[in-house]
Amino acid sequence: MANGDERGLGKCRNGHLSSYGYPTRPDDPFPFCSQCGCAMVWRCDQCGAELPQDSEELKPAAFCRHCGTAYFAEQSAEREERVVPGM
Ligand SMILES: [Zn+2]
Ligand SMILES: [Zn+2]
Repeated sequence: MANGDERGLGKCRNGHLSSYGYPTRPDDPFPFCSQCGCAMVWRCDQCGAELPQDSEELKPAAFCRHCGTAYFAEQSAEREERVVPGM
């Protein structure tokens, strides 16, 4: 499947950015973050769109630009808990 030219950026839910396909990187997307052991996310679970391929944009990204799905399910659950109605 890998045509040798494939490369991409991804991140784990702790915000560690990583990449594959670059000269010093693994050839293929790998499942776990090397820094914390959390699952790496390379593309949207829902629609398959890639994460932002620009590290400046990827750093704060938490939701898919194409379908609005949270990249990290646990993160979205946490967010909902913190939304307390003003009344
Ligand atoms: Zn990590
Ligand atoms: Zn999506």
